[in-house]
Parts: sequence; C-alpha cells; structure tokens
Amino acid sequence: MNKQFDAIMPITPRPEIIFEQGEGSWLYDSQGEKYLDCVQGWAVNTLGHCSPIVTNALTQQAGRLINASPAFYNGPMVECANKLIEHSVFDQVFFANTGSEANEGAIKLARKWGKVHKDGAYKCITFDGAFHGRTLTTMAASGKAAFAPMFEPKTPGFTKVPYNDLGAVAEAIDAETVAIMLEPIQGEAGVIPADPEFINGLRALADEHDLLLVVDEVQTGIARTGSLFAYESYGIEPDIMTLGKGLGGGVPISALLAKASCCVFEAGEQGGTYNGNPLMTAVSLAVLNEVTRPDFLVGVNKRSEYLTQQLMALSEQFGLGNVRGKGLLLAIDTGELESAKIAAECLQKKLLINAPQQHALRFMPALNISYAEIDQAIEIMSEVLSSL
Ligand code: PMP
Repeated sequence: MNKQFDAIMPITPRPEIIFEQGEGSWLYDSQGEKYLDCVQGWAVNTLGHCSPIVTNALTQQAGRLINASPAFYNGPMVECANKLIEHSVFDQVFFANTGSEANEGAIKLARKWGKVHKDGAYKCITFDGAFHGRTLTTMAASGKAAFAPMFEPKTPGFTKVPYNDLGAVAEAIDAETVAIMLEPIQGEAGVIPADPEFINGLRALADEHDLLLVVDEVQTGIARTGSLFAYESYGIEPDIMTLGKGLGGGVPISALLAKASCCVFEAGEQGGTYNGNPLMTAVSLAVLNEVTRPDFLVGVNKRSEYLTQQLMALSEQFGLGNVRGKGLLLAIDTGELESAKIAAECLQKKLLINAPQQHALRFMPALNISYAEIDQAIEIMSEVLSSL
C-alpha cells in the first residue's frame, strides 16, 4: 500500500487509484487511464463531471460573492429557493450542506411541530433498510443493521418497521408519533421502490392520525428518477422533503422543504455557517434551470428505458435476477453472484458501477449519459460476466 494513503482514515476500502480529472461520463486517473463512470459521486453529478453548466456557475459566482453569512439574504439563495418552490408542492426552503444535515433538520422540524401542535409527540416511524445519513440522529433513523450497535446510546424516538408494509405502519402509530419518514426508493438498500399503494396508504394514515409525511429525496430528487421529485410519480403531496446529492450537481448543498403548515422553526432553532451560501446556491440554481428545461425529463426517461432494456437482456443472458428502479437510479439483481466481485472486475476494465448490497449492482450515471456510453458500460459488464 502506498504510504501517502495512510494519512486518510480508512472508512471505506479504496482501490489505489487517484482521480485527477473528469468530463461528462468519464474520469481520468493520475496515470492517464480513462474510466466510464456510472456512479457519478454516488448520484451527485447530475449533469456529469465538470459540466460547463456547473463549472461556469461556480467560477462566475466565485468571482462575485462566496459567503456573506447566513444572517443575510444573498441573490442565488433567494432565487434558488424560489425555483424549488415554483417546481414543488412546498412553501419554504432551508438550505444545508449534506443529506444528513437536511434530514436532521427534517427530524428537528417534525419534533418542533409535535411540540407545538401535537402535545409533544416526537416519534418518527422509519423503515428497515432505510438510509438517512451518518450523524447520530440520522443513523438512529436509518435501518441499516450494521450501524446499530457501534455508537450507542442512539438517539431515541424512532420506530422501525418493514418497508412496503402498510399494516406494520398502522400498528406502530401511537399517541407519541409525529411523523413517517421514508425514501420513495430505498437507494442504499439496493434500489427498492415503494409500492404505489404503500405510499398512498402512508399519506392516508398520516392524514387520519395528523402526522407529517417526510420524504427523503436526497438520492431520488432532482430528476434522478425521471420526474423532478420521485413523490410526483406517486401522485401524493408530502409535508416535508429533503434534497441533497444531485441538487448541487457535484458541490455540497442540501435542502429541507416544507409546507407552510409545518414551517414552525423560530429564530435560532436551526442554522449553520455555510447554509444558503451563494457559491453553492448559484450552482444549484444552474442545475435546476437545466433539469427543469421542458425536454430534460423526456431525455432521462428515454435513457432509462434503454438502459433498463440492456440490463434485462444481460440478466437473461447470464441468468441474473430482476432489474428495478426508476429513471437513472437502476439496479440489477446479481442472483448467485457477489455484486462486489462484479464491480471490482468492472473497475479493472475501467467501468465504475456500485454494489450497495451483496447481490445488487446499482447504476446512477449522469442524467445526460449518451446511448453509446450506455452501450460501452453494458459491453464491459457483459465481458466481466462472461469471465466469471
Ligand atoms: N439520505 C439518502 C436517501 C441517501 O442516499 C444519503 C446518502 N447516500 C443520505 C441521506 C446522506 O447524505 P449525505 O451523505 O450527503 O449526508
């Protein structure tokens, strides 16, 4: 192992590659090798690596204003918030830096709402397999079994039930429950979509019991699943939504959006030094302007259809399992095969794909990936699968 890597905490097993440059669907390492990237920073680079849209917004804003403190409005902050409101069912936005931080904010907002409106109710129902982040509270909200014992005592107030099990949710609701929080598609769990009846049932339960429905769209939002936000495809209106990842097209920004009826934060109850800074909100605004162009979603859905077909053909040829997901958040079940092994072999052949679960491979390419690039990815996968 190269000694210079010792300075970095080994929180994730990393191959000895140093990436130095990116363009569109391609990454280049320090040896000048070229990689086709179907991970894109974990669904972060909405428009691919170093899209001129992102780079221009970033450099232009960097020469104008970088930070004026969150105690003041700035132009991009205001414009970006209004753009999000214009294209969603929400009334107000709170900007943060990471998905975890937006989710912490959502949980705090739900608790505050419970204090004000529901006799101090504070419990959130969340789901097995869920991933909401790595802070202490978002970890407690998550349903990743491997996390649980290491960092106790964990934040109380989360009741975990099986995903897509409406009966279990109904049973878990008690007088102290304030919210139901879920990912419309569980990404880290291996791309597991919520059933339409499930999400619609949750909305009905929330209405019946006066609960907030919180959707974590950190991974599914910003056109990733073929609609601007995944909740739209279910025909429901959540009370609260969180965004991250794709919102910044590569730069760190997240957001918490809420309906006016639950915007109960008062001065000082939520905040952060970098929140709503003009540098990140300017980039986000540029990304939003692009993904809300009339034809953008059509392109995502066409690519999705094409990639889905190609993956289904691979599945048939190599006896793999189902292909699932929406838009360009797709997974293929690898059947008997270890997904990590396939991903490692693909990396050898200069293709980045992600293995979130033992038998699932996840694709989250740039939303503007070309058909030729999809073909190349499939070809490499096919070579790898033939060799195993
Ligand atoms: N929620 C979801 C659904 C996610 O997929 C992630 C990241 N994988 C997070 C929250 C956490 O976001 P971050 O890593 O930016 O804190």
